[in-house]
Amino acid sequence: MSENCLFCKIVRGEIPCRKIYEDDELLAFHDINPVAPVHFMLVPKLHLASLMVAEDSHAALLGRMLLLGAKLAQEQGLENGFRTVINTGKGGGQEVFHLHIHIIGGGNIPPMVKRS
Ligand code: AMP
Ligand code: ZN
Repeated sequence: MSENCLFCKIVRGEIPCRKIYEDDELLAFHDINPVAPVHFMLVPKLHLASLMVAEDSHAALLGRMLLLGAKLAQEQGLENGFRTVINTGKGGGQEVFHLHIHIIGGGNIPPMVKRS
C-alpha cells in the first residue's frame, strides 16, 4: 500500500468507486471519466507503480488481470470485443502511478494508431 496513491485509497475504501468486481488480489471499477460506453479499470490491490517495476514474482498476478479483464468485459456486455490499454510511465501517458488495465468498449472504437 502506498499512503498517497489514488488507487490505493480506492482499494482501502477511502475514496468511493463504482465497483464491478473485487477479490483478495484484484479490484475492478468504472473509470470516472469514460472514453467509451464501457470503460473500467482493473487494478491489483498490491501497489505497483507501473508495469516497469513488475517482476517475475508478479507473473501470476498479471496473468490473472488479463484473464479476469476478459471475463468482466464480457459480463459488461462487450461480447463483440474490447480494447485493453496499459499506460506505462510518463512516456506512455500514465497519469495514475498504480498499475492498471483500462478495459474499453461499446460504441465505435477507432483504430488505435492512425496510419496515413
Ligand atoms: P492513466 O492515464 O492510464 O494513468 O489513467 C488514469 C485513469 O484513471 C484515467 O482514465 C482517469 O479517468 C481515471 N481516474 C482518475 N481518478 C479516478 C477515480 N477517482 N475513479 C475512477 N477512475 C479514475
Ligand atoms: Zn497504489
